[in-house]
Amino acid sequence: MFIGRNKSGDNNAAPTEMSDTGQETKFAKQAIGLMQKSGITPNPENYALWYHYVAAQNKELIREIDAIVNNSLEFTRDTSLYLYNKYIVADATQKAFEDSSLTAQKVLMDVLKVVNEFSDETKHYNKDVDTYLEKVSQDFGESSVKDILKQIIEATVTLKQSSSSMTRKLEESKEEINDLKRNLQQVTNESQRDFLTGVFNRKTFERLVDDQIKQAQEKKTALCLLMIDIDHFKKFNDRFGHLLGDEVLKTVARTLMDILKGRDVVARFGGEEFIVTLPETPVEGAMKVAEMVRTSIASKQLKRKNTGETYGTITVSVGVAHFRHETDTLPTLIKRADDALYQSKHNGRNKVTSE
Ligand code: GH3
Ligand code: MG
Ligand code: MG
Repeated sequence: MFIGRNKSGDNNAAPTEMSDTGQETKFAKQAIGLMQKSGITPNPENYALWYHYVAAQNKELIREIDAIVNNSLEFTRDTSLYLYNKYIVADATQKAFEDSSLTAQKVLMDVLKVVNEFSDETKHYNKDVDTYLEKVSQDFGESSVKDILKQIIEATVTLKQSSSSMTRKLEESKEEINDLKRNLQQVTNESQRDFLTGVFNRKTFERLVDDQIKQAQEKKTALCLLMIDIDHFKKFNDRFGHLLGDEVLKTVARTLMDILKGRDVVARFGGEEFIVTLPETPVEGAMKVAEMVRTSIASKQLKRKNTGETYGTITVSVGVAHFRHETDTLPTLIKRADDALYQSKHNGRNKVTSE
């Protein structure tokens, strides 16, 4: 069902210019109109979501909103917060990253300018001194030596002044660069991780595991992969709400990070699925780790902190696969872990199965 998104919207088109206020007002009106029509609460997150929807800036967001509306699902606050974090917050992080890269470039240009100015001045100074020395060698008269010395001293004073001004400017730039480095570090770190759980996101996972696969192939060492999926998570969300569901995701991620250390990579693979790689670990070892993950999660009683109200326990199913040096790629390895996971579900959930 088409519910009135900007018809000319090309999802791949560059974002609308900031100065194009006519267009922005049009989108704003359209967004508010649609929200009223679909009975959406006019809070800031919803407004941001529906504005992005009509401005056709994010294909995935449009697809998710369409799916909710087409299936006549309720657009709850949990849903809108979930979408807001996923699309708007993540977009803003990316933008901040781009902005800081631009500022870093600008600071570097400024520093280069100062250094160039200084080297120009030094060139001048050297040329002046050369001229004076030439004069000295031609004319040994007492008064002219005095004059020449005076001029050299003046030129030295000027150079010293510009040198200390440059040192000051460079100091300032150094501080700015350090600030930027820290910001960039933080933004880079954020962009590599899943915003909700803090484990690596899928993109980073793929990059890191590519390296692990190369290493395993070169050194002929073992590499195992665990696919972990929360059991009946939809029911949990339906019963207790998405926000509590999010807390469960954080708890599972924390448990994984506590158990897995060193070179192991832990990532969020999708909604309620986590993926783990264990370098230099044979299948028997990987099965032990998987069992530890399973029992550790199943033994936790989920409670609301302030009221102590209990939500029971949650369990996970796990599939384990090991890397086949001759034939495997990351997707084939994942596929076998996924098949093993399916067996765990099929055998009653809260289970570990090896391929
Ligand atoms: P199964 O035991 O077969 O895995 O059942 P399931 O309900 O866990 O699996 P299903 O794939 O049917 O549903 C996954 C659910 O995970 C759907 C959605 O409610 C929930 N989910 C996915 N991502 C998130 C998220 O970021 N936050 C919350 N709270 N829930 C999520
Ligand atoms: Mg799943
Ligand atoms: Mg599940």
